[in-house]
Amino acid sequence: MSVRVYGRCPSARQPMASGDGLVVRLRPPNNRLTPDQARAIAAAAQDYGNGLIDLPARANLQLRGVRAQTHAALIAALSPLGLVEPEGSRAPRNIIVTPFADAQTYALADALQRALRTAPDLPHKFGFVIDCGPAPVMGDISGDIRLERSPDGRLLLRATGLALGAPVTKEQAPQAMCDLARWFVDAGGMHEGRGRMAQLIAQGACPKGALAPTDSPAPGLARPLPGVVAQGALVGFEFGQLQGETLAQLATLGPLRLTPWRMLLIEGLRALPDVPGLITDPRDPRLRIFACTGAPGCLQGQGDVRALARWLAPELAPDTTLHVSGCAKGCALPTPADLTLVATPEGVDLIVNGRAGDPPFRRALSPMDILQLPEFS
Ligand code: SF4
Repeated sequence: MSVRVYGRCPSARQPMASGDGLVVRLRPPNNRLTPDQARAIAAAAQDYGNGLIDLPARANLQLRGVRAQTHAALIAALSPLGLVEPEGSRAPRNIIVTPFADAQTYALADALQRALRTAPDLPHKFGFVIDCGPAPVMGDISGDIRLERSPDGRLLLRATGLALGAPVTKEQAPQAMCDLARWFVDAGGMHEGRGRMAQLIAQGACPKGALAPTDSPAPGLARPLPGVVAQGALVGFEFGQLQGETLAQLATLGPLRLTPWRMLLIEGLRALPDVPGLITDPRDPRLRIFACTGAPGCLQGQGDVRALARWLAPELAPDTTLHVSGCAKGCALPTPADLTLVATPEGVDLIVNGRAGDPPFRRALSPMDILQLPEFS
């Protein structure tokens, strides 16, 4: 059986071809999984893919190595659990809900989903970030429209790129987020299906009236690390990837919340679990290392960057962030890192305080050359 393959962000029904087979992205509602859903995904990864599951920065998950012949069976297995967009529906909206959400926040997210049914078509990467705990914690996560809180606890609607937001009530917030999306389109933010809010704001556009920015959000919190929090236990994964059997084991511990930080939150757990394949030590250097699939799993990969990253990890200096990329596209980290290594046919290029696509500071390094850098002990 043949399956249509798309060259953009994958979804469940529109997978993307990669070097290890099809990549199938699932967007669980509100970035949450019941134990039954998690078990079904774990089984599907093993039955229809190569067993590997990615945790991308959009707080969703991807099954890797799916075969074209079994894609339809995978869809049939996961559809009854609400994990697949309805056939013929438009592209799913990108909504990230803070994993530290309470019941009111999830109610807001549900209301936004309903309100967006009548919103205009938006760029494929356009996203909504519901980050309304006491202080924002997802300020560095890609998104276009953000719901945050002011220092005195009021809800603020903020367009990415603006420092200030517009106060809204919880009743107004879902429709106001749609109104801001419509303003983005009407103001010319979308061209040929592409465009981001920050680009529009950088051109001098600014919403007016009820959407006008007037108030500062509360100061943002640092990126979370593995540990026990009020909602449960946060656990990390090397390069944001886990085996299906690991997900199945975690499903026995409770419902799961997906995060944009390559971690899962196990709801209600009051101690870190002892399950193989997890990162539970907040000092683990792999939490500061970003490495894409690279070769051979990605067709564009110029090297086995995860093997290189694993080899370098024990030597990485404290507080240093390292991005190891299979090519200049830099899928694993769109933002700058202290050090970025990019595999090329000639060796490894080094970029300092930049992104994978920035001009290299040094070219064609060997692994031993890299170890001589001051950021490695
Ligand atoms: S950065 Fe390049 S090699 Fe790595 S996953 Fe993206 S396209 Fe593939």
